[in-house]
Amino acid sequence: MIPIRCPHCQVGLKVDESKIPATIQTFNCPKCKHPIPVSFVTKNQVADDSETVILSFPGTKDAKIGKIHVLPNDSTPEQTVQLMEGVNIVGRKSNVQKSPTAIDTKDKLMSRSHIVIEVRKTANKDDYIYYLYDNKSTNRTLYNNKYIEPGEVITLKNDDEIQIGQTRLIFKEE
Ligand SMILES: [Zn+2]
Repeated sequence: MIPIRCPHCQVGLKVDESKIPATIQTFNCPKCKHPIPVSFVTKNQVADDSETVILSFPGTKDAKIGKIHVLPNDSTPEQTVQLMEGVNIVGRKSNVQKSPTAIDTKDKLMSRSHIVIEVRKTANKDDYIYYLYDNKSTNRTLYNNKYIEPGEVITLKNDDEIQIGQTRLIFKEE
Protein backbone atom coordinates (compact mmCIF):
# COMPACT_ATOMS: atom_id res chain seq x y z
CA MET A 1 0.00 0.00 0.00
CA ILE A 2 1.35 3.39 -1.02
CA PRO A 3 -0.03 6.38 0.89
CA ILE A 4 -0.66 9.44 -1.27
CA ARG A 5 -2.57 12.67 -1.02
CA CYS A 6 -4.98 13.53 -3.81
CA PRO A 7 -3.53 16.53 -5.64
CA HIS A 8 -7.03 17.94 -6.17
CA CYS A 9 -8.89 17.60 -2.86
CA GLN A 10 -5.97 16.64 -0.61
CA VAL A 11 -7.71 13.56 0.82
CA GLY A 12 -5.32 10.86 2.08
CA LEU A 13 -5.50 7.67 0.04
CA LYS A 14 -3.78 4.33 0.23
CA VAL A 15 -3.22 2.72 -3.12
CA ASP A 16 -2.65 -0.99 -3.52
CA GLU A 17 0.06 -0.70 -6.15
CA SER A 18 0.09 -4.44 -6.81
CA LYS A 19 -3.44 -4.19 -8.19
CA ILE A 20 -3.03 -1.20 -10.50
CA PRO A 21 -3.89 -2.44 -14.00
CA ALA A 22 -0.97 -1.95 -16.36
CA THR A 23 -3.30 -0.50 -18.98
CA ILE A 24 -4.46 2.56 -17.03
CA GLN A 25 -2.65 5.89 -16.73
CA THR A 26 -5.05 7.65 -14.41
CA PHE A 27 -7.70 6.67 -11.90
CA ASN A 28 -10.40 8.82 -10.34
CA CYS A 29 -10.12 10.02 -6.77
CA PRO A 30 -12.93 8.30 -4.79
CA LYS A 31 -13.66 11.58 -2.98
CA CYS A 32 -13.50 14.33 -5.58
CA LYS A 33 -13.61 12.17 -8.76
CA HIS A 34 -10.77 14.09 -10.38
CA PRO A 35 -8.21 11.99 -12.25
CA ILE A 36 -4.95 11.19 -10.50
CA PRO A 37 -2.08 10.05 -12.72
CA VAL A 38 -0.70 6.62 -11.84
CA SER A 39 2.82 8.08 -12.06
CA PHE A 40 1.87 10.37 -9.14
CA VAL A 41 1.41 7.30 -6.91
CA THR A 42 5.03 6.20 -7.05
CA LYS A 43 6.51 9.70 -7.01
CA ASN A 44 4.50 11.37 -4.28
CA GLN A 45 4.39 9.27 -1.16
CA VAL A 46 3.17 10.99 2.00
CA ALA A 47 2.89 9.99 5.63
CA ASP A 48 -0.23 8.17 6.84
CA ASP A 49 -3.03 10.16 8.37
CA SER A 50 -6.35 9.34 9.99
CA GLU A 51 -8.47 10.29 6.98
CA THR A 52 -6.88 7.67 4.79
CA VAL A 53 -9.18 5.85 2.39
CA ILE A 54 -8.00 2.50 1.15
CA LEU A 55 -8.13 2.40 -2.61
CA SER A 56 -7.50 -0.89 -4.30
CA PHE A 57 -7.86 -1.86 -7.94
CA PRO A 58 -9.95 -2.57 -9.77
CA GLY A 59 -11.43 0.11 -7.51
CA THR A 60 -12.36 2.31 -10.40
CA LYS A 61 -15.97 1.11 -10.11
CA ASP A 62 -16.92 4.50 -8.69
CA ALA A 63 -15.84 6.14 -11.93
CA LYS A 64 -18.19 4.01 -14.03
CA ILE A 65 -21.74 5.00 -14.79
CA GLY A 66 -24.41 2.48 -15.73
CA LYS A 67 -25.66 1.63 -19.19
CA ILE A 68 -28.87 0.70 -20.91
CA HIS A 69 -28.72 -2.47 -22.96
CA VAL A 70 -31.28 -2.32 -25.78
CA LEU A 71 -32.58 -5.78 -26.71
CA PRO A 72 -32.88 -6.32 -30.46
CA ASN A 73 -36.23 -6.88 -32.21
CA ASP A 74 -37.68 -6.45 -35.72
CA SER A 75 -37.44 -2.65 -35.59
CA THR A 76 -34.42 -2.20 -33.35
CA PRO A 77 -30.82 -3.35 -33.63
CA GLU A 78 -29.01 -4.42 -30.47
CA GLN A 79 -27.22 -1.43 -28.92
CA THR A 80 -25.93 -0.04 -25.66
CA VAL A 81 -26.64 3.45 -24.39
CA GLN A 82 -24.04 4.91 -22.04
CA LEU A 83 -25.64 7.03 -19.33
CA MET A 84 -24.02 10.23 -18.09
CA GLU A 85 -24.17 12.02 -14.77
CA GLY A 86 -27.18 14.33 -14.77
CA VAL A 87 -30.39 14.11 -16.78
CA ASN A 88 -30.51 11.55 -19.59
CA ILE A 89 -33.46 11.73 -21.99
CA VAL A 90 -33.98 8.36 -23.63
CA GLY A 91 -36.21 7.85 -26.64
CA ARG A 92 -36.33 7.31 -30.37
CA LYS A 93 -33.52 8.91 -32.33
CA SER A 94 -34.67 11.35 -35.01
CA ASN A 95 -33.66 14.59 -36.66
CA VAL A 96 -34.82 16.47 -33.57
CA GLN A 97 -33.69 13.91 -30.98
CA LYS A 98 -29.99 13.40 -31.54
CA SER A 99 -28.86 13.16 -27.92
CA PRO A 100 -26.18 10.53 -27.15
CA THR A 101 -28.83 8.59 -25.23
CA ALA A 102 -31.24 8.40 -28.19
CA ILE A 103 -32.04 4.91 -29.45
CA ASP A 104 -31.64 3.94 -33.07
CA THR A 105 -34.99 2.29 -33.83
CA LYS A 106 -38.00 2.19 -36.14
CA ASP A 107 -40.29 1.57 -33.17
CA LYS A 108 -42.93 4.29 -33.69
CA LEU A 109 -44.56 3.48 -30.36
CA MET A 110 -41.45 4.89 -28.69
CA SER A 111 -41.58 8.65 -28.13
CA ARG A 112 -38.55 10.81 -28.88
CA SER A 113 -38.24 11.84 -25.23
CA HIS A 114 -39.92 8.80 -23.73
CA ILE A 115 -38.23 8.42 -20.36
CA VAL A 116 -35.79 10.30 -18.16
CA ILE A 117 -33.01 8.62 -16.21
CA GLU A 118 -31.34 10.92 -13.72
CA VAL A 119 -27.89 9.85 -12.60
CA ARG A 120 -26.83 11.33 -9.27
CA LYS A 121 -24.00 10.66 -6.87
CA THR A 122 -24.96 8.93 -3.64
CA ALA A 123 -24.60 10.90 -0.37
CA ASN A 124 -21.15 9.42 0.32
CA LYS A 125 -20.23 10.16 -3.33
CA ASP A 126 -18.75 6.68 -3.77
CA ASP A 127 -21.41 5.49 -6.16
CA TYR A 128 -24.24 6.56 -8.41
CA ILE A 129 -27.98 6.31 -7.96
CA TYR A 130 -30.34 6.10 -10.94
CA TYR A 131 -33.86 7.55 -10.98
CA LEU A 132 -36.26 6.59 -13.75
CA TYR A 133 -39.51 8.28 -14.67
CA ASP A 134 -41.85 8.38 -17.63
CA ASN A 135 -41.57 11.67 -19.53
CA LYS A 136 -45.33 12.07 -20.20
CA SER A 137 -44.98 9.64 -23.09
CA THR A 138 -47.94 8.82 -25.35
CA ASN A 139 -47.74 5.07 -24.82
CA ARG A 140 -46.42 5.02 -21.23
CA THR A 141 -43.53 3.01 -19.82
CA LEU A 142 -43.37 -0.47 -18.34
CA TYR A 143 -40.96 -1.07 -15.47
CA ASN A 144 -40.49 -4.75 -14.67
CA ASN A 145 -43.80 -5.37 -16.51
CA LYS A 146 -45.78 -2.74 -14.55
CA TYR A 147 -46.82 0.67 -15.86
CA ILE A 148 -45.03 3.60 -14.23
CA GLU A 149 -47.65 5.97 -12.83
CA PRO A 150 -47.57 9.69 -13.70
CA GLY A 151 -45.22 11.35 -11.24
CA GLU A 152 -43.81 8.03 -10.03
CA VAL A 153 -40.02 7.90 -9.67
CA ILE A 154 -38.29 4.52 -9.73
CA THR A 155 -34.84 3.84 -8.29
CA LEU A 156 -33.22 1.49 -10.79
CA LYS A 157 -31.44 -1.70 -9.77
CA ASN A 158 -29.10 -3.83 -11.84
CA ASP A 159 -30.88 -5.94 -14.48
CA ASP A 160 -34.18 -4.06 -14.16
CA GLU A 161 -36.29 -4.16 -17.35
CA ILE A 162 -37.85 -1.10 -18.92
CA GLN A 163 -40.18 -1.28 -21.94
CA ILE A 164 -40.79 1.79 -24.10
CA GLY A 165 -42.95 1.21 -27.15
CA GLN A 166 -42.23 -2.35 -28.22
CA THR A 167 -38.59 -2.14 -27.23
CA ARG A 168 -37.15 -3.69 -24.10
CA LEU A 169 -34.21 -2.16 -22.26
CA ILE A 170 -32.13 -3.74 -19.51
CA PHE A 171 -30.44 -1.47 -16.99
CA LYS A 172 -26.86 -2.47 -16.21
CA GLU A 173 -25.21 -0.81 -13.24
CA GLU A 174 -21.85 -1.21 -14.96
ZN1 LIG B 1 -9.48 14.02 -4.69
